[in-house]
Amino acid sequence: MGKADETATVSWRRRALLATPMAVVATGLIRHSSAEAQSSSQGSCGAPYGQLEALIVDCTTDGQALAGIGASLSARADALEQGDREAFLATLDLRNPTWRRIQTEYFDAGRGPRSSVLRGTPVALQAKPGGYVRATIEFARAGLPPTDRGSWVFSRANDGTWRHAEPLNEELGPRRFDDRGAFAISHYDWDADILDRVAGVATTAWARVGASLPLPAGVRPTISLNPTYAAHSGLRGSTTWAAYLPGSRGTVLLRSPDSYGAGTSPVNEAPDEKLLVPLVHEMTHLVNDDIVSVVRIPHWMSEGLAEHVADHMRAGELSWAVRAGREWTLDKASDVIEWGTDPGRNYTSADVSLAYAHASHGVRYYIERFGMDAFWTLARDFAASRAWDRTFLQATGISWEAFGRDWVAWVRTRLA
Ligand SMILES: [Zn+2]
Repeated sequence: MGKADETATVSWRRRALLATPMAVVATGLIRHSSAEAQSSSQGSCGAPYGQLEALIVDCTTDGQALAGIGASLSARADALEQGDREAFLATLDLRNPTWRRIQTEYFDAGRGPRSSVLRGTPVALQAKPGGYVRATIEFARAGLPPTDRGSWVFSRANDGTWRHAEPLNEELGPRRFDDRGAFAISHYDWDADILDRVAGVATTAWARVGASLPLPAGVRPTISLNPTYAAHSGLRGSTTWAAYLPGSRGTVLLRSPDSYGAGTSPVNEAPDEKLLVPLVHEMTHLVNDDIVSVVRIPHWMSEGLAEHVADHMRAGELSWAVRAGREWTLDKASDVIEWGTDPGRNYTSADVSLAYAHASHGVRYYIERFGMDAFWTLARDFAASRAWDRTFLQATGISWEAFGRDWVAWVRTRLA
């Protein structure tokens, strides 16, 4: 599932993470909040302090860092507008090879100069371990008020300039396990300050899944939170926000909401809202996998169910396709989802999104007509029989072809 933060109130559940008094004295910059006070400390950006101390150090008052990061953002926007690859790469910290790939792919996808590039201004800074700084950035078109907000990380190079960065895996600190009862969060120290926010969204998401599906008694989701593209192979794709690992019985990968990869959100929207649909979608796969293996049912069923439960129907896309006489069969939608944008099939990313729109409406129609129990009957029976047409007829009383015709008619009345 394709792609910030000034409202975070952080409570430290992990007293073990707090620095020793000696370390605090040594830096002279950091004042730790107590579990009750929840205040943040002021410091200089890029100060050399250790991993364990680095919970929240607000360094927004560091004027030099603010100006340097602003200059870096300006140089990036200029390079994009001019199509200047070398100048673009010069704004980046390229020590992390996966980060380098993500950014060069992003630049190369533009094919030359870009018009109307959003320009970023840092509005808040937070010192992170290893001299990194997490910046809250507001994006605007030239001369207009900001429309979007994101959270990007920067490092300071030897020449004093600031570069857009992602830390190396070894700079993220150890992985830790935060038990929240109904679910757990597996996270790096790097993300220790945003766990309450992630837990808030996950609680809402899990409840939303539970409103549509029976939550499995024996399965408890583990949300694996990843702040960089290189932190987990399952999230190395540029537009992947979250992913379920089939067969893992509970692991949902999620991009850290305060990472470049989580994208930007409108300034008038709560920044964590963007996590909700991806989390509901992936948690639905998890529940589905507990009832019947997701890899043993057609994509239109598994992806359609996840989109249906997340209420992410993409109705506009399907409506457009129906009006243009471009609707597909659900078998075709499954094929497009299976292959994605692989060059061998010539499907575009718009095709893939349209395939998800077919799947979500296919599942919604099936459930409206036959009920949720019949959805699982079909899924279980097909997972066992591997004979689609016969199993579909037995489960529903109508043929797959007749269902396809009825579905298109339903879509036409609903959407056209
Ligand atoms: Zn999915």
